[in-house]
Amino acid sequence: MEDCLFCKIVAGQIPATIIYQDADVVAFEDINPQAPRHVLVIPRRHIPSMTDITSEDGPVLASIYMAATKIARELGIAESGFRFLTNVGPDAGQSVFHLHFHLLGGRRLGWPPG
Ligand code: 5GP
Ligand code: ZN
Repeated sequence: MEDCLFCKIVAGQIPATIIYQDADVVAFEDINPQAPRHVLVIPRRHIPSMTDITSEDGPVLASIYMAATKIARELGIAESGFRFLTNVGPDAGQSVFHLHFHLLGGRRLGWPPG
């Protein structure tokens, strides 16, 4: 989609430190990390937000979760633990409207989140 930051990262038009990709999914380091390990896992296809997901997206979502597990293992945080979440809308602070999941780990994460 034109003018979507993460579509541009998927297309290679904006640089990012990509750490995983497959047919459906791209994962790259967050530019402003909130934990020692902070990776964004996104579908290649433009889906604006969680609330736009339909049943057709089921296989892509499965790929996203499996990619996250693979990445967590490779980063060495699968055993120590991690958080995997998507922010939806203003109260959650969503700032990029291409569906993305934050993979956070490498430190003890507070709960409830701020
Ligand atoms: P949100 O606030 O929408 O849940 O998350 C957006 C995330 O994208 C933020 O954590 C922010 O640091 C990250 N981000 C914003 N612009 C860029 C960019 O150009 N490159 C990368 N790698 N991450 C970005
Ligand atoms: Zn997009």
